[in-house]
Amino acid sequence: MNDWVIEYTDWDPAKHPLREALCTLGNGYFATRGAMEEKSATGHNYPGTYLACGYNRAVSTVKDRKIENEDLVNWPNWLYLTFRIGASGWFDLDKVEILGHVVRLHLKEGILERNIRFRDRQKRETTLITRRFVSMNDIHLAGIEWTLIPENWEGEVTVRSALNGNVKNQGVRRYRELNSNHLDIIETGKTDKNSIYLICQTKQSKIMMAQAATTKVFHDNHQMRDQRETKTEARSVRQDITIKCTKHRPVRIEKLVSIYTSKDFAISDPYNDAMRKVSLNINFTKALNQHKRIWEQIWSRSKIEIDTDNDELLILRLHIFHLHQTVSHNSIGYDIGVPSRGWHGEAYRGHIFWDELYIFPYINLHMPELARSLLMYRYRRLPRARLMAEESGYKGAMFPWQSGSNGREESQVIHLNPASGRWIPDNTLLQRHINAAIPFNVWQYYQSTKDMEFLAGYGAEIILNTALFWSSIAIYNQERDRYEIRGVVGPDEYHTRYPGSDKPGLNNNAYTNFMAVWVMQCALNLVKIFDKKRIEELAQKVGFTEKDFELWKDLITKMYIPFDDDGIIMQFEGFGELKPLDWGKYHKEHGDVMRLDRILEQENDSPNNYKACKQADVLMLFYLLSSDRLVKIFQQLGYDFEAHNIPKNIKYYREITSHGSTLSQMIFSWIIARSDREGSWSIFKKALMSDFNDVQGGTTPEGIHLGAMAGTVDLIQRCYTGLEIRDDVLFLNPRLPRELNEVNLHIRYRSHWIKLKINHRKLWIEFDRGWAEPVEINIKGHTRRFETDDIAEIDLG
Ligand code: BGC
Repeated sequence: MNDWVIEYTDWDPAKHPLREALCTLGNGYFATRGAMEEKSATGHNYPGTYLACGYNRAVSTVKDRKIENEDLVNWPNWLYLTFRIGASGWFDLDKVEILGHVVRLHLKEGILERNIRFRDRQKRETTLITRRFVSMNDIHLAGIEWTLIPENWEGEVTVRSALNGNVKNQGVRRYRELNSNHLDIIETGKTDKNSIYLICQTKQSKIMMAQAATTKVFHDNHQMRDQRETKTEARSVRQDITIKCTKHRPVRIEKLVSIYTSKDFAISDPYNDAMRKVSLNINFTKALNQHKRIWEQIWSRSKIEIDTDNDELLILRLHIFHLHQTVSHNSIGYDIGVPSRGWHGEAYRGHIFWDELYIFPYINLHMPELARSLLMYRYRRLPRARLMAEESGYKGAMFPWQSGSNGREESQVIHLNPASGRWIPDNTLLQRHINAAIPFNVWQYYQSTKDMEFLAGYGAEIILNTALFWSSIAIYNQERDRYEIRGVVGPDEYHTRYPGSDKPGLNNNAYTNFMAVWVMQCALNLVKIFDKKRIEELAQKVGFTEKDFELWKDLITKMYIPFDDDGIIMQFEGFGELKPLDWGKYHKEHGDVMRLDRILEQENDSPNNYKACKQADVLMLFYLLSSDRLVKIFQQLGYDFEAHNIPKNIKYYREITSHGSTLSQMIFSWIIARSDREGSWSIFKKALMSDFNDVQGGTTPEGIHLGAMAGTVDLIQRCYTGLEIRDDVLFLNPRLPRELNEVNLHIRYRSHWIKLKINHRKLWIEFDRGWAEPVEINIKGHTRRFETDDIAEIDLG
């Protein structure tokens, strides 16, 4: 087995949309789905191209109501390349006899390859080998290479190469009733014999994109003499290139494409720079080799390898691959956030959610400079978040549940249930807990980098603003002598209101309340880190006073957390009174019931009425915080909660969770690892395969689930190795599941490059490179100082 190559050896149109999403190529700046070059968006083929954070807003009318959505725009299709022999029809897989069809995604090199052999109606046999890359080296460059081999024929061939602006946002079936026209095509044309271009602009956000393409045809390594005809149309431009083919003699077609947008740095205008690039006569092989070299560097720097008896390593690499394709060193400095579904499709419209929480741990420990840049996406939207808080009557900053271009709330207000055909209100935007995830990420980043400049300059403002928000949304309940947070939604999206109530929102979601305490505690700790002068400056800018400190101090001891009589943390107040669900009945009728919400809505019922959760909610606390920390905060709040209460809480929620979010299994794998490594490993394997096998039955084709992908990588990186950063010490407490023989990791920690190798008996640690002060590492309870060039071998006993 080759654990660097994802290979599909059959041609199955029904499976193509999933493979197309999984074979997306990207470079942290733009991404293009693994669609077939020779087909436009028809049937199962959907050649989406997406620019990182390239959004546009459009108004749609649904049931006489005007709604506005901000979409991740599908840009013109630069892939288009096809051919025909003589005067017969254009190549179409559906119209030929397929003799062989293999697709390979080369993870090591970032290349998508297709190898097809087919026989047409005239009995002509042809082999077509295609290779494609989206350059990691030059973010504005992508290329396609076709090798066409006439096996038993010869004659005239016409190759058609196009830039096609006849595109819409049609990638997600349920959104198709909505306005999906985002682009105006400004100009199409030809600049020189070999090159064509297309300029377009989004209708509302006015992002301009220029695409330019040069297509050349070679026999051996010599450019062939060809006849070309260029045709410009209102929304597309194409070149028909006619050549003569000889039996058995391969013809090589190269299409190099350059993409620039008005959001780029160091450009004059997108068109000029795109044209200049393709006129440079770039050598395809050289460009491809440079791209490969950058991937080599990425893999060496971000090494996470596992030794198991099955192919987990391959899928783990696929996850790491897509992480880097979504956000990479190329994204640094751009105003780019990390989207929940990659730039791989149109699901969730490319919005940025709390899924960062699962993605940052990997980025922090591999590309801290990227983590900083992604956090800046949030910082730049702090003024908007402050405005949102003010408009809602709160202090500080209230970040939106779904964020896009300018940081306003981008959550949809209604959504279509495909099962019932009904449009229903969407109240998931009440997930205020995003305002804990963002400061949590800031703090985690600081912990692994000690980047004081960032913390003092930007991070502190995020933490203090969100702390202010939490203290102003909390209400003091005199009867209880506790603070409460009302009218919110927790991570479990099945519950957005009380049974029978029209009013959205729930009271005292345990996760939200607890994490609000965490944020205020963090703000109080922060105040101790900075000097008086900086605190005064921050107080002026953020708008807090001594009174707020006093309030935070009170809140962190008096926040209300609902419990039942058995010591189970109740997801929200009143959760215990909901009806139990007849899981057996629903499993029997619907299988795994991941979309229980849709099933119940179709039956005119609602998950709001039942003790049934979409995903980990309360249990998120056990995922994010160590049991020591957790118990300490509970004690500070005056609740009698000990580490031994954790397993029974896990058991309670495990029995009533449908895992309707791909995040859920990954979190369960993590929290179960504490007591049951083998049990955790079997859930890890499920979580690992969720996108590869599209376990939700149709969501992965609409975009990968980056949170779950990164989360599974992090299970190896932090959970099984027991890696934790606390009080300026890096803790390692490895305990590998039986089936995991060995882990090899390269991480970055406080400007050190550290290599770790762990098996069931030993841990090897090597301080490879670095320019920083020595750091403290605690291995299995013993703290030691390490500096550059230090090596140690530790018996795990
Ligand atoms: C989950 C959320 C998640 C979102 C985006 C939803 O299905 O419930 O927790 O943030 O997907 O991935």
